[in-house]
Amino acid sequence: QPKIANLIKLNTNENPYPPSPKVLAAIQAELGDDAARLRLYPDPNADLLKAAIARTHEVSPQQVFVGNGSDEVLAHVFMALLKHDTPILFPDITYSFYPVYCGLYGVDYQTVPLADDYTINPADYCGKPNGGIIFPNPNAPTGRLLALDAIERIAQANPDSAVVVDEAYVDFGGTTAIQLVDRYDNLLVVHTLSKSRSLAGMRVGFAVGHPALIEALERVKNSFNSYPLDRLAIAGAVAAMEDGEYFERCCQAVIATRETLSADLTGLGFEVLPSAANFIFVRHPQRDAAELAKALRERSIIVRHFKLPRIDQFLRITIGTDGECKALTDALWQILG
Ligand code: PMP
Repeated sequence: QPKIANLIKLNTNENPYPPSPKVLAAIQAELGDDAARLRLYPDPNADLLKAAIARTHEVSPQQVFVGNGSDEVLAHVFMALLKHDTPILFPDITYSFYPVYCGLYGVDYQTVPLADDYTINPADYCGKPNGGIIFPNPNAPTGRLLALDAIERIAQANPDSAVVVDEAYVDFGGTTAIQLVDRYDNLLVVHTLSKSRSLAGMRVGFAVGHPALIEALERVKNSFNSYPLDRLAIAGAVAAMEDGEYFERCCQAVIATRETLSADLTGLGFEVLPSAANFIFVRHPQRDAAELAKALRERSIIVRHFKLPRIDQFLRITIGTDGECKALTDALWQILG
């Protein structure tokens, strides 16, 4: 978090809107009058939160695992479910933490190139021996969405592998694969409250899948930290899950702004990949992406540039408020002359 005043921060896919007011009320209620309850350890199983997630997604609490942000959930997934003799598969352009976990836990991997239009081709994940499969849907940093039937096809074709779908951004335009977990015992779906529920600062993520997968995650988690979620996070997260109306309104606002910004940037000559996330991935055919990012930074607007093969001419721009996105468009209009 840069310590610069009046910064327009469109680089880490945070939600521009605050969390539901019910989150703060729940945290205050949990604290009580004298915060004495903070003397006591929290529920190691966060049963209230698992129940709230189970209600929201119409699964049983035994199908739910919770962790300190989905990054922690993913770390346990790599250790508990993806470490095998055969390399795991993930896209060549994807969430940058996957190879980091592989390095930490000694998991072999093979990257699978995205198609020329930056989509995942499900056939590339079918009929290839592997120790597991993981990808975000929508993918990051492209924002491109894979249809549910393609995910089903991948789960079906790999009955002996854990197929992990990282749905950090799914609430901004995708359909969750949680509805498939009863049919595919190898499918694990990972979510976060950091994006669509505006709680990146609170650190809560979860996974939904067959109870056997959840049990494996619980064993790794309990060998690492029995209390990854504190009392305030559990109380706040329950309230966030239960305020479906507020959640829906924020998601719709972000989606509407995304569509306006995509059209505005297309008007400025950018190529904008179709996005189902709270960010867009764009490139300008005549202007260097790193230079554009630098010019924006000089105007106190930060966006994300990846110095990586295939995507070094793209910028990933988080959807902010309408005002922030207007400031971005105005700045780009100036920069592009
Ligand atoms: N998965 C993906 C694809 C992400 O982009 C992020 C956010 N950087 C995460 C997981 C982790 O989010 P968090 O730890 O905040 O839940």
